[in-house]
Amino acid sequence: MTPVSTDQNAGDTSQCEGVALDGCNTLGFSARARALSEPHTVEAARAQVLASRQAGERLVVIGGGSNLVLLPWLDAHVMRPAFDEVIITPAEDGLTATVSVEAGKRWHALVMELAAAGWWGYENLALIPGCCGAAPIQNIGAYGVELADHLLRLEVMSLEDGSCRWMNREECGFGYRDSIFKGALEHRVLITRLELQVSRQASPRLGYGDLAQRVSAALPQGEEVTPLQVAQAVIATRSEKLPDPAQLGNAGSFFKNPQLPQAEAQALLTRFPSLPHYPQADGSIKLAAGWLIDQCGLKGARRGHVGVHAQQALVLVHFGEGAVTELLALAQEVREAVHTRFGVWLEQEPRELGMMPEG
Ligand SMILES: Cc1cc2nc3c(=O)[nH]c(=O)nc-3n(C[C@H](O)[C@H](O)[C@H](O)COP(=O)(O)OP(=O)(O)OC[C@H]3O[C@@H](n4cnc5c(N)ncnc54)[C@H](O)[C@@H]3O)c2cc1C
Repeated sequence: MTPVSTDQNAGDTSQCEGVALDGCNTLGFSARARALSEPHTVEAARAQVLASRQAGERLVVIGGGSNLVLLPWLDAHVMRPAFDEVIITPAEDGLTATVSVEAGKRWHALVMELAAAGWWGYENLALIPGCCGAAPIQNIGAYGVELADHLLRLEVMSLEDGSCRWMNREECGFGYRDSIFKGALEHRVLITRLELQVSRQASPRLGYGDLAQRVSAALPQGEEVTPLQVAQAVIATRSEKLPDPAQLGNAGSFFKNPQLPQAEAQALLTRFPSLPHYPQADGSIKLAAGWLIDQCGLKGARRGHVGVHAQQALVLVHFGEGAVTELLALAQEVREAVHTRFGVWLEQEPRELGMMPEG
């Protein structure tokens, strides 16, 4: 395990110095925690779980910090899994393969490795930042594909006692940007590895945005589309719309697309016929939160060091040197404006971790 740094005063809650979590969240706000470690093996992670348990300190797992709003003080030992092994085991007929991937592997790197090797399944989820261990937390999704679609099972380690067990897809309670890890198991387990299934069978999902156009423009005549070409089309589309966190602090979509019961959504659609909406299998209707925000005149709005992204109203951005309180105030302004105009309360997507300093 690489102890990045440790707080000499762990156990003394009056000492809020700890270690800087610089680079631990893509929004780029400053935050501190009691300690930070990066175990390189599952065994080292278990040792940290047991050590934290014995010390009576809270242990919080994070990945790439791309779905987090870090508040200034996190009264916990922060662990960032650095184990990242990938094993691809083809089935006997060679048509499918099981991919075993450890928590610390970068999601986008995995997607590109699979796509380049000709495996279909996750090419639509290219360029989503973060680590594989975090992907199940909100069941990452884009362009009509979700993590859960091809997940066979995943392994979790209890943050109570370090014991490991496998969970199948049904046990994970996946939903739209949701899972049991945001509910009953929130901060209670470390997801150590995922098992995914990929296929040689071509299954391009090009029904979203301009993917179909991009793919056919790049495809030499008479050739079959490959998963890599789909991934590249996704990357091109995303790069045009979403700010790169390395250039401009952000956590991707800051709000979920609201899902309303049919009658409620229909009432809104009667008043606002151009509201983009997507009927769901369960009868509810998903509305485009970005459109709602845009209609409130907030797209591109700037408040001090933070703002609503000019190309994608769902994304709140941090221009640098700002405080997380500015971002939270802007998020509240957006929610209130949308509620006043449309009667819909937007739900925040990134999870908040930590607390504001007293006083
Ligand atoms: C530019 C941009 C674009 C994005 N686009 C998309 C998109 O298209 N679709 C989408 O779904 N999301 C998107 N996101 C959100 C984000 O990338 C995903 O949610 C990603 O899975 C978060 O991974 P992470 O490693 O950064 O997690 P973190 O932000 O570090 O953590 C997120 C949560 O998971 C928990 N966690 C992390 N790792 C583990 C683990 N191993 N075990 C247990 N708990 C853990 C943390 O405690 C935290 O609560 C985007 C974000 C950005 C910045």
